[in-house]
Amino acid sequence: MGHVRSSVALLLLALAGWACSSDEPTAEPTTTAPPVTTATPTTTTTTPTTTTTLSPTSTLPPTTTLPPTTITLPVLTRTAALVATWLTNPGGNTAAVISGDAPIPVDVQSVETASIDGVDYIHVVASGIPGYTHLLTDTDATFLEGRPRAASDFRDGQPLVGSGDTVDFGQDIGYASSGCTDLPGTGYGFWPPGPACPTRQDWDAWFPVEPVEATEPTATGLGAIGLWVNGVAVFNWGDGQSWGNEQVWLNLAPVAEAYDLDVCPGHSAMGTYHHHSHPGCLADDLGDDGSAHSPVYGYAADGVPIAGPWAADSVLARSSWRLRDYDDPDSATGCGIAGARTCLLLDQLDPSAGTVVTDSPGPDTSDFVRSMSGNDISAASGLYAQDWYFDAALGDGSTAGLDEHNGHLGGLPGFAQPTYHYHVTRAHDPDRPGEFVDVFPFYVGPTFWGELHDNALVGGGGPGAGGPGGAGPGPGGPPDFTEAAEALGVTVDAIMAALGPPPPDLEAAAATLGITVEALQAALPLPPRPGP
Ligand SMILES: [Zn+2]
Ligand SMILES: [Zn+2]
Repeated sequence: MGHVRSSVALLLLALAGWACSSDEPTAEPTTTAPPVTTATPTTTTTTPTTTTTLSPTSTLPPTTTLPPTTITLPVLTRTAALVATWLTNPGGNTAAVISGDAPIPVDVQSVETASIDGVDYIHVVASGIPGYTHLLTDTDATFLEGRPRAASDFRDGQPLVGSGDTVDFGQDIGYASSGCTDLPGTGYGFWPPGPACPTRQDWDAWFPVEPVEATEPTATGLGAIGLWVNGVAVFNWGDGQSWGNEQVWLNLAPVAEAYDLDVCPGHSAMGTYHHHSHPGCLADDLGDDGSAHSPVYGYAADGVPIAGPWAADSVLARSSWRLRDYDDPDSATGCGIAGARTCLLLDQLDPSAGTVVTDSPGPDTSDFVRSMSGNDISAASGLYAQDWYFDAALGDGSTAGLDEHNGHLGGLPGFAQPTYHYHVTRAHDPDRPGEFVDVFPFYVGPTFWGELHDNALVGGGGPGAGGPGGAGPGPGGPPDFTEAAEALGVTVDAIMAALGPPPPDLEAAAATLGITVEALQAALPLPPRPGP
């Protein structure tokens, strides 16, 4: 009870702080606070022109050991290689559909190297709106038409597009979108009922040029944990929801929100467009066809590159996280009763430590769980973060094996030296030849490999943000209702309107939203931590 009280008190403080800046409803994401170590600009820009002169899919062999004089492409310094990976927009292309008060430039607006107190960074400014154009495949069309609630998800009971059609990001494909109004420039009809439509974000992100392995790894937390090379937010696996709102069995967004994503697949929370799983439209833009090690798709907040799913020609990088087997009563990772989710692993990094019975059992694996969007999701092992454990034997040093952070040291296209990097992880679907399933932890985690700097792009709020020992999102700023809106399946405006001016009346707000106070509290962001 004391914990709940203090949470509410902190929430009130947070909302009071938020009210101070509420004259800026379009405030930037809280994660973009400038580096706290500099009161005056001390950045020096060096050769920003390199941002546009190099192909992001440079064809340097991943692990070349040839001396520079014998290869045709220049050997890039690490800094130049990092800069070259970003998808800049020198032509000033603007979004086909999404607009604000003015047309929005897509992809990345600037990439430059900058030094702060002797530490080199890649400094990226981006709108957060991608320039995706997606060619719908047979699989896409089958998924759209086969949605269990297609009759109400689409205004005409079916999509306006089919296999072979090309769809611009935000184009109306017939969804009965509920997260934004049917007005030009919003993206109405591109997102299924539930998610809000995305808005311009103006990311101002800093990534250290030389990530350093953390001595005490930081949990990735909820919300943004990095940027893709087109300036779209990288989100971690969580959506802030859990079974029964008990924060014991934490939802994996790629599974729990399978019907709440667009065709790319992605969606927005409080206007922030993001991906949780393999970003297929970005893979298309980067021309990543699995014939070589994937290029860099993005960067995590610790500055570590995130490569696409391929570790080599036709070889998928392999997550070393494995599913617990609840169905075999004799399995060491199950709970002794077939299908029961009544126990937790004592240590997800070491399954040999055994299990412990929990007072908050999850659903049986044969159950179905209703999502916020009213879709029934199979509760088979894999729906929750607690369904996975790390199998050290799989990180065997081979080309494909990854460590507990989902990364490994190896060659990376465009980089002259072996470079530690994460991978987007997926696997061949045993039930559907030629198709894939996404595999935990999808990009990074549960902990970052590298140290987080004070200016790291992390946070976004939500229960568990930052995790144990997590780095705070920096100074002040408004509470981020991003994940709360996503978790509750309502718009941010609805949450803000329900809460009213500080101090908020949680009971009244819950009643307005038609949910319990507990559910509201579970979904609301923790207050920002004090700056470091
Ligand atoms: Zn999401
Ligand atoms: Zn790799």
